[in-house]
Parts: sequence; C-alpha cells; structure tokens
Amino acid sequence: MRCEELLAALGDYVDGQLDPALREAFEQHIRGCAICEVVIDNIRNTITLYSAGVPVEMPPELHEHLSTLLRDRWRMKFAGG
Ligand SMILES: [Zn+2]
Repeated sequence: MRCEELLAALGDYVDGQLDPALREAFEQHIRGCAICEVVIDNIRNTITLYSAGVPVEMPPELHEHLSTLLRDRWRMKFAGG
C-alpha cells in the first residue's frame, strides 16, 4: 500500500468499514511509514472513541487538514531528498 492509497482508505479505516485484508495492509504501512504514522496518531483519539462505541464522524475539515498535512510532508520528504 502506498501513502495515497492509505489516505484514500483513511475514512473507511476510521469508520471501521475497511476490509480486513485492506486493514492489515493499512496497519502494516503505518508501521513502516513515519509520515502516515504521524497522521494516524493525530486521529487515534477518534478511532479510540469509535472502539468505545461512541459514534464519531470524522469532520470534512479534519480530512482536508490531513490531506494538506500529508501533501506538505510528502513535499518535504521527496523534494529535499
Ligand atoms: Zn505512508
């Protein structure tokens, strides 16, 4: 799984709707990618609330924020070398 694919699956992951095989690839990517790990850390509270049975929706602003954050970090990672 690439960072772009992880971001695309992020909503389903938070919703707990991710296919188990995809979820495994998702979590495997997080363990090997510091950038995405930071992103997931930022929304871990939301995921925790979900696990506790509290209905939480990821706000569109947050998704937008994460997209921007990832873009910036990708730029730093791949532009700087
Ligand atoms: Zn990544």
